[in-house]
Amino acid sequence: MKTNEPKAKERGECSACSRDFQLTRERLLGWHYGMTQAGFSTGKRCDGVGEPPFVPAGA
Ligand SMILES: [Zn+2]
Repeated sequence: MKTNEPKAKERGECSACSRDFQLTRERLLGWHYGMTQAGFSTGKRCDGVGEPPFVPAGA
């Protein structure tokens, strides 16, 4: 059983690269680089930036 109730700084999982990042006050994903499927930084903004965080089924 895992309660997911962040206190001060909320984090969320990026739906594009499946990593955790801090959320903005709008509860959208903060800026981060995208990641290729091989695990390397793309050097470009991730597609998930500015999107709502991925919410696992059952959350
Ligand atoms: Zn991402």
